[in-house]
Amino acid sequence: MPADPAQPVATLNPLPPPYIGRFAPSPTGPLHFGSLVAALASWLDARAAGGRWLLRMEDLDRPRCVAGAADTILRQLEACGLQWDGAVAVQSERDDAYAAALDALIARGLAYPCACTRAQLAQAPRNAEGEIVYPGTCRNGLPAGAGARAWRLRVPPGTVAFHDRIHGNLRQNVAREVGDFIVRRADGLFAYQLAVVVDDAWQGVSHVVRGADLLWNTPRQMVLQTLLGLATPAYAHVPLVTNAAGQKLSKQTLAPALPLTACSTVLAQALAALGHSPPAGLAGAAPAELLAWASGQWQIERVPVHSTIAKPSP
Ligand code: GLU
Repeated sequence: MPADPAQPVATLNPLPPPYIGRFAPSPTGPLHFGSLVAALASWLDARAAGGRWLLRMEDLDRPRCVAGAADTILRQLEACGLQWDGAVAVQSERDDAYAAALDALIARGLAYPCACTRAQLAQAPRNAEGEIVYPGTCRNGLPAGAGARAWRLRVPPGTVAFHDRIHGNLRQNVAREVGDFIVRRADGLFAYQLAVVVDDAWQGVSHVVRGADLLWNTPRQMVLQTLLGLATPAYAHVPLVTNAAGQKLSKQTLAPALPLTACSTVLAQALAALGHSPPAGLAGAAPAELLAWASGQWQIERVPVHSTIAKPSP
């Protein structure tokens, strides 16, 4: 029977947007157990949804990057069986995109130059995270005789409400609790907040799964997304891993690098940290087998709702 042009051929449910996740390490050193927990959560969430998992080297802060670290990170992910899709994106090659975003903000009066030094801001009030709340000194123009150093976003007043898939519904008044934050630093480098928002949109990222140290960066990133007309991904923040002394694992606290071989033990520990302890029958299983099991089991609701978690003992 010929189709009646007045009638829809079929009523199709719109396809859900494709899942695109990402892991965005800074190559300031090799990955440690805490980074594995974040990478694994992001990989599992993507694979369990049948999605893509992208890798982005956040080498924006050139002075903090360590030669060879990016390569080591790739080898460590491969050793753990965390294969990424497509080419690795590299932030140090993306300055033009960040400059274009900043120019667009400046053109609309949404970013302004700031002359304040760190020393001048040392006495400014701090928020619950211990960060300086910018008092707005240069908001209406640079003080006479002062030169521009950084660029700040003119944060609109109001509360940003957001949903974290692990932490639930949260809100922050960015203008009051953070103030006009830096989008280009005094040393000329683009700020993490600007780059991450531009790149997540450029890569089509639909789901961000990352460490809880970045939870309260989310409202800042959402303010930027709104002002730049970019989509907001879904967010989930997994617990940070602490050492026996209760300190966050990091280069500063001398967290050991992940091994490049025999990764089954660390992988099983990372799964346990995420609320997905492998069954006894999988003891000593190869990374690929552990990952296949875990992607079939993955439920983000099982990830502990803490901002920190102690590293399981071997
Ligand atoms: N590059 C950041 C880090 O290593 C992560 C950024 C993000 O996931 O948004 O802490």
